[in-house]
Amino acid sequence: MASNDTDDAKLHDTAFFGHPRGLSTLFFTEMWERFSYYGMRAFLVLYMTAEVAKGGLGYGVARAGLVYGMYTSSVYLMSVPGGWIADRFLGLRRAVLLGGILIMAGHVSLAMPLEGSFYVGLGLVVLGTGLLKPNISAIVGQLYGANDPRRDAGYSIYYMGINIGALVAPIACGFLAQSSTFQGWLSSAGIDPNSAWHFGFGAAAVGMFFGLVQYWLGSRHLGDAGGPPAPRETAAAKKRDRLILVAVLIGTFGVPILFGVLMAKGVIANKEDLEHAFTYLLLSLTVALFAALYLWGCEDSEERRRLTVILVLFLGAVTFWAAFEQAGSTLNLFAQEHTRNELLGIGFPASYFQSINSVCVILLAPVFAALWVYLGKRGKEPSSPIKFGIAQFLVALGFAVLIPAAITLDGPQTAFAALKGPFQHVLVSPGWLVALYFIHTAAEMCLSPVGLSSMSKLAPKRIGGLVMGIWFLAASWGNFLAGKAVGYTVTATYQSFFTGMIIFPVIMGMVLLVLAGPIRRMMSRNAAGGLPKATARKK
Ligand code: GLN
Repeated sequence: MASNDTDDAKLHDTAFFGHPRGLSTLFFTEMWERFSYYGMRAFLVLYMTAEVAKGGLGYGVARAGLVYGMYTSSVYLMSVPGGWIADRFLGLRRAVLLGGILIMAGHVSLAMPLEGSFYVGLGLVVLGTGLLKPNISAIVGQLYGANDPRRDAGYSIYYMGINIGALVAPIACGFLAQSSTFQGWLSSAGIDPNSAWHFGFGAAAVGMFFGLVQYWLGSRHLGDAGGPPAPRETAAAKKRDRLILVAVLIGTFGVPILFGVLMAKGVIANKEDLEHAFTYLLLSLTVALFAALYLWGCEDSEERRRLTVILVLFLGAVTFWAAFEQAGSTLNLFAQEHTRNELLGIGFPASYFQSINSVCVILLAPVFAALWVYLGKRGKEPSSPIKFGIAQFLVALGFAVLIPAAITLDGPQTAFAALKGPFQHVLVSPGWLVALYFIHTAAEMCLSPVGLSSMSKLAPKRIGGLVMGIWFLAASWGNFLAGKAVGYTVTATYQSFFTGMIIFPVIMGMVLLVLAGPIRRMMSRNAAGGLPKATARKK
């Protein structure tokens, strides 16, 4: 079938709330995958910092923050090789299936109460998510023809699926891992209540299993989306692909081994060394990736211009995720240690806070979709870089809301960590965090679905998975920096820490607003590639 006919057929598939039937398959698969990811993430830091006597790993806050940061960062970092391997060898659909199987195996391993299986489990989840996350996100875009106006709305619906999983998961897994009720049940069944954490990990495995089953059953609805890669025409191109594959596999398995050897030999002697090594790894990969794409990956100057837009959006996304993803690190610990975790006199575990963001996404996604349509009809819809800029200001505002709570915690007369001691048992209202999460979600709606949709439009189909991988590389940076930030909370006052979290996004917000004009002019040089307005439009 000619591609216009195919696009036409796609346009007439409206079986899932006016969208292609295949969207339902991807919606529920990603819902369950995110259930497993966020369910386990909600208590990961808390498990690592819990005393050994209470079934935890007994790590210090800084060490737990580092493992958390490296894990969450690696999960998204693997999207780069995962996207490329799918584009060139596996095809996007098969990569999603394989990824889901690895993720499930990872959570099964985490459910075993051994420190060794803890790290094996994290490794498997990292590999699996690298194969699943970028590719399932790219398949969503391929359900729509090039000019289908439903694409952005499709990503909004998909984003809601993500957040339904992310909403239920911390409550379900958090209940199993942390609640005294479940521990009581375990005791009465003659099981050590300190093993409750591992039931939380087990629930994540079960969630991924459901996701796999429904992906398997529903994949017939995906049509030609995410099919096998187009075969290479020349022997030289095939040979080059194989060489890159060898390099990718060596990188994927060799780098963690190298890190292990350097640690065993004492070259990486402490957590600072490890943090530096990881920073260099991320930095060199990012620079090499963009350089390679500019030099060899673009077929013409139009693609090069698109890559520049991708780079700008990438930088905005790094700053945003670094602030936003503290939900699971510093803000999680803040909720654990400094917040009065009770509602109407009934106590709840800190991990429950992790669901607020998802509730807010489900509430705000339709509001933002309607807002973009309203503005679009009046020709006033902001371009993607402007939306990204707004997201930075909002994320800064979220931290600004915590400043009064920080003053209460630090004590009115102190700006110094040494004086924090006498005040550290003050508990602040949960309302501060609720307000922060609400504002951060509004910020997320200006950046995350907009970014996914932009990548799907900017990417040439032959590297759709890889470009999504680049999008998630920004999340990788963000998560690493958010984990690293935990270390600063040990020495800085809350006031100074939160002030820093205001300053960085505000600077990036201003940069994006300044760059928005030149980007629009650059893209309008080629009418067909007009990203800014068309890309961000929500139906
Ligand atoms: N919360 C979204 C998800 O889990 C976005 C994650 C990201 O891109 N950093 O898919």
